[in-house]
Amino acid sequence: MNTQSPPSSARLLHRDVAILGGGFGGLGMAIQLRRRGHDNFVLLESEDGLGGTWRVNTYPGAACDVQSHLYSYSFAPKPDWSRTFGDQKEILRYIESCADRFGVRRYCRFGERVTSANWEPESQRWRVETAQGTTVLARVVVSATGGLSQPATPKIPGLDDFAGTVFHSARWRHDVPLEGKRVGVIGTGASAIQIVPEVAKSAAHLTVFQRTAPWILPRPDHAYPRWMREAFRASPPLRWLERQRIYWSLEPRALAFTAFPDILRWIEPFALMHLCHQVPKGDLRDALTPNFRLGCKRILMSNTYYPTLQLDHVSVETDGIQTVVHDGIRLNQGQHRPLDVLILATGFEAAEAKPPFPVTGRNGCTLEDVWTPHAQAYKGTTVAGFPNLFLLVGPNTGLGHSSMIHIIESQLHYVLSALDWMSEQGRATVEVGEPAQHAWNEALQRKLAKTVWASGCNAWYSTRDGVNTTLWPGTTLGFRRELERFDGEHYASS
Ligand code: NAP
Repeated sequence: MNTQSPPSSARLLHRDVAILGGGFGGLGMAIQLRRRGHDNFVLLESEDGLGGTWRVNTYPGAACDVQSHLYSYSFAPKPDWSRTFGDQKEILRYIESCADRFGVRRYCRFGERVTSANWEPESQRWRVETAQGTTVLARVVVSATGGLSQPATPKIPGLDDFAGTVFHSARWRHDVPLEGKRVGVIGTGASAIQIVPEVAKSAAHLTVFQRTAPWILPRPDHAYPRWMREAFRASPPLRWLERQRIYWSLEPRALAFTAFPDILRWIEPFALMHLCHQVPKGDLRDALTPNFRLGCKRILMSNTYYPTLQLDHVSVETDGIQTVVHDGIRLNQGQHRPLDVLILATGFEAAEAKPPFPVTGRNGCTLEDVWTPHAQAYKGTTVAGFPNLFLLVGPNTGLGHSSMIHIIESQLHYVLSALDWMSEQGRATVEVGEPAQHAWNEALQRKLAKTVWASGCNAWYSTRDGVNTTLWPGTTLGFRRELERFDGEHYASS
């Protein structure tokens, strides 16, 4: 018998739409509903504010590697981005300002950690419960919990026995000073290459534990001069042109990742030139030379990573970690590297794609059940067996070449079209049919097999059994075309 009484603040809310998550996806949904005069929705967010990954990832050096004039909502341009690639603080401020500008804060409930979402067939409502005692009964759920929200802790023996401080890059411990400390960073992905140059500024010694050398290109970052920011403010067409310039410089790259992966081989010499230019010939340069096809893992951009690795108090270990011991790390060859602080820049559980709480559909099955052995959805947005559930940044919506905000906006449009369709047709529920979902995923996997991501590099894009559940094998325009109207004929409705 459950003897736990519900929290004293237990409350029941009836809403038409429940949005789960307050990152770019969830906030975008709230804004679009509001812009259409919709009033009957709630956004539940476990953190104490909006921003999602941009609120949580506060590690030093955090910034976006997509140009800010594109990595922002098309309906909420910001003329005064300070630099090409905005940093975490500026992006978070932008997100907050969008919430204020469109007046959606009053629909948000912060500090509400969703613990379950269950479809109730009798009432045709989703019952969403939070750890804080709130229950929302909603006709429609939009799950926007983010593709990169669950940190991956590596299964390295002895990790629990480490006597120093250990934390993940996405849960930065700002209360742990690094000055004068011996710091280790495990990982060499997009997070690590931003963290390493910053940590090296204060640590007494920094050891980077590299399993795979990443491909790194120069980062064409610069501050926008004041006159330019003012010109963008004064002239919306100029700002629009800047966005278009960035968009069209990136969009053709999708073809290189997907249809013509051999083109990426032509980029490899540029990345190697960057390495050769920054790292003198020798063992370190050899150790930093990638041994997989460029583009198979995310292509990284940095001007400061390679120079940092050559500082006297920084070392790179490529030998492989045997075990974590109470005062450091023992490498495969037996050497011991003493550490006070260990930072896990080891990425996220992305390929599993599931929200961080059980979502139970029409047949009593959870998303986790139907996504075993791997996740799939229809158009990355709906799932058979889960009526009136829409996923933002669902399976196979990720990109290697452009802005995820473009994908999110395509999905927002699709969800709004579905809501319109339901009211026009007088339907209470929509649920994608198995055949449509199956055909969509068959076609996806056929295309993915021809992409650079299938060239064998063990990236986080794929599950352990090698199925790519995260990336969209096409252009952002192609994705937008697929989602430009709600195709009710592929849905069962009642
Ligand atoms: P990641 O790309 O998955 O990198 C994780 C790193 O940890 C890899 O170098 C991996 O090595 C290493 N690793 C994992 N387990 C390990 C183990 N047991 N022993 C040794 N090394 C281990 O994670 P991330 O850097 O956090 O980036 C994840 C994604 O977040 C990016 O791809 C990107 O989409 C996004 N991101 C974006 C930005 C941005 O600027 N927009 C910044 C940060 C992150 P292997 O390569 O050998 O697996």
